[in-house]
Amino acid sequence: MALKCPKCARDMEAVDFQGVVVDRCSGCRGIWFDAFEKEYLEEMDGAESLDDGDERVGRRHNDIDRIDCPHCRTQMIRMVDLKKSYVRFEHCATCGGSFLDAGEFREVKGQTVMQALRRLFRRD
Ligand SMILES: [Zn+2]
Ligand SMILES: [Zn+2]
Repeated sequence: MALKCPKCARDMEAVDFQGVVVDRCSGCRGIWFDAFEKEYLEEMDGAESLDDGDERVGRRHNDIDRIDCPHCRTQMIRMVDLKKSYVRFEHCATCGGSFLDAGEFREVKGQTVMQALRRLFRRD
């Protein structure tokens, strides 16, 4: 049984990024991360490719913040990203999972200016 998206109720599909499997909505392209998967993927190069949705859809869905966890049905709480506090997402305090709307993970993953410069001057 596929998980249902907590925002648009479409089926979510499992997507694998180098062995880490997240659930992505086939409708709105929001992404469900199990506990620690978000933090883990934030450190992996290229993981932002998982977030292939339209950020305009994501911004609309960002206003839907009364949702139940697709795993354990607890009402989720609203969180802000530690590094990018304008990125708001939903977090389940019971199972530790997080739901990010389309475009939000790309935003969280986005390089800082220093990271971009370092990458530019790295010789490899
Ligand atoms: Zn959805
Ligand atoms: Zn949960």
